[in-house]
Amino acid sequence: MHFITVFLLQDQDKEYVGFATLPNQVHRKTVKKGFTFTLIVAGESGLGKSTLINSLFLTDLYKDRKVPNAEERINQTVDIVKHTISIEEKGIKLRLSIIDTPGFGDAVNNTESWKQIEDYIDQQFEQYFRDESGLNRRNIQDNRVHCCLYFISPFGHGLRPLDVECMKALHEKVNIVPILAKADSLTQAEVFRKKMKIREDIKHFGINVYQFPECDSDEDEDFKKQDQILKDSIPFAVIGSNVQVESKGRKFRGRIYPWGVVEVENPAHSDFLLLRNMLVRTHMQDLKDVTRETHYENYRAQCIQNMTRMVVRKDSSSRKMKRYTSLTHSVISSLTKLRRMQEVLERIQEQMQHSQRGGY
Ligand code: GDP
Repeated sequence: MHFITVFLLQDQDKEYVGFATLPNQVHRKTVKKGFTFTLIVAGESGLGKSTLINSLFLTDLYKDRKVPNAEERINQTVDIVKHTISIEEKGIKLRLSIIDTPGFGDAVNNTESWKQIEDYIDQQFEQYFRDESGLNRRNIQDNRVHCCLYFISPFGHGLRPLDVECMKALHEKVNIVPILAKADSLTQAEVFRKKMKIREDIKHFGINVYQFPECDSDEDEDFKKQDQILKDSIPFAVIGSNVQVESKGRKFRGRIYPWGVVEVENPAHSDFLLLRNMLVRTHMQDLKDVTRETHYENYRAQCIQNMTRMVVRKDSSSRKMKRYTSLTHSVISSLTKLRRMQEVLERIQEQMQHSQRGGY
């Protein structure tokens, strides 16, 4: 008599194939390639855009900057200036491109202030579309703009008409993150009221700013709380400074006033840290994904639609031409036949007249 023993395979007894290392493989490859991120800053000049960028990335991107005088500003157009820096942190390389828009809102007539920004974003999409459809797709440089920090003045009541028009011109092309500039010039209650008014205006004018992704239900409570704080902070009220100050034995980026010191990175003073964490630590990849999956896809679909329409138009006009040509041919051949018949008739008539005359 034989006894057969059957062992049920437990999870830990399963043979190890090795695909669990896939995330590590992806990680190694992407780290080797490095990361890129492109940010555009828009909003009237003097709102602290350059200062904030320097504070955000702890650099001095604007060493050679020349601020135009009042006369130069009257007819100034928005020039697009691109700064690229490579930052490395714990072996991870990031190529950061900052697109600055000096001259925005400076001219007497600002009706088309945003046009240059819109064109710049479109040009980057166009270049990517071309490269992607070309022969050499291996080394495509991706210069698509992933995020637009839009600076709003702390001195107005909500959005100005220029802000509304600019944001509406850009919101289908880029992730707009609204910023309430120079928050240190407002009291806490004013910051609260301005934020409410700006959020109301955004809703009222149908502006689509960047939407933070929904939190997964299995995330822990602390993460969910932080995520809600982030969502409720829009527009981020920020303070920038290019200088380090020393107070009570501590060194920090800040601004010194006769009545006290403002700390850029202090959460009680501004949303600077929230913004930096969002941009760099938590949502950089999502901003890139939304750019690729939504904004670029819209551009690409529109491009293909236009191209198809052009081909159809060409095709239909060539078909019309063919129809016209064949119609002309058939008219010509009918006319020729008619003329021949006429000639035959004339000849018969002549012969009849001739034979009649001969008969007399
Ligand atoms: P941009 O033209 O928008 O790039 O503005 P700048 O960064 O050149 O800043 C214009 C002026 O505002 C400079 O004198 C800055 O020192 C000052 N500034 C920048 N950020 C802040 C801020 O957060 N609060 C205050 N009160 N002033 C600021």
